[in-house]
Amino acid sequence: MSSVPVYESWEEPRGEKKVPQLKVVSAEREPTEVPPDHLMPKDPQARRAWLKRQSDALESASPQEIIGWASATFGDKLTMGTAFGPEGMTIIYMLSKIAPQTHIFNLETGYQFKETLELREQVLDRFGIAVELKQPELTVEQYEAKHGGPLYKTNPDQCCMDRKIAVLKKGIEGKRAWISAIRRDQSPDRAAAPIVGWDNKFQLVKVNPLAKVTKQDVWKMISEHDIPYNPLHDQGYTSIGCWPCTRAVLMDEDERAGRWSGTQKTECGLHSLNPGGSE
Ligand code: SF4
Repeated sequence: MSSVPVYESWEEPRGEKKVPQLKVVSAEREPTEVPPDHLMPKDPQARRAWLKRQSDALESASPQEIIGWASATFGDKLTMGTAFGPEGMTIIYMLSKIAPQTHIFNLETGYQFKETLELREQVLDRFGIAVELKQPELTVEQYEAKHGGPLYKTNPDQCCMDRKIAVLKKGIEGKRAWISAIRRDQSPDRAAAPIVGWDNKFQLVKVNPLAKVTKQDVWKMISEHDIPYNPLHDQGYTSIGCWPCTRAVLMDEDERAGRWSGTQKTECGLHSLNPGGSE
């Protein structure tokens, strides 16, 4: 049986607001929760009911409390995927305070900006967290040679499938839950995201600690805690993915308008709801 940290939450006055805080107060204890396998029986209805209860109970919780709950519940079966976006960086910061042992990985497609990859080093220096780079089997050169050129130009869905989705499936092997950094106000596709739900596509629990958080909240936290962020955000890149499929946006454009610009594609498939998708 794995062990989990004991954490304590409180609120700190900041101006007129009280800001939720959470910290680890002692080394580790044996989990008192029923192991996740028992919590989530194979029966989809019972599992859905349990997750709905947890999600409802956490609806008014702070991101720190949600992360603390996820760590206490899933222990070393919890993981997080990050592209080092501003939301992900705030979660990494909170994890460094609450559950620094949590496994974190990045889908290194081979097409990421160098500024994005440099953030991995900053996370290591600043928080002592080594984000694991998960890579596709084929290098970019091998992949483009196999397909007669860059597939992102002709079939981005397949490119995302091969260089992100397939890699993610390997990244979550053996895990029971993953933390994502999506916000409900990012897109219509994400508006219905629960705090905790069943990710039907990847067959594990998905925890969205920032579901209720706004873009302003995220940047406020980055500013208040001096959290590193991708310098491309200061050049108009509001949402950053692979360089061939990302452009800067204009002032009046949606924050994700720069992703797969000029195509119908809006999501790489990691967070979109498929038929029978997230419960
Ligand atoms: Fe390929 Fe673009 Fe998807 Fe990256 S975002 S995996 S380059 S299609």
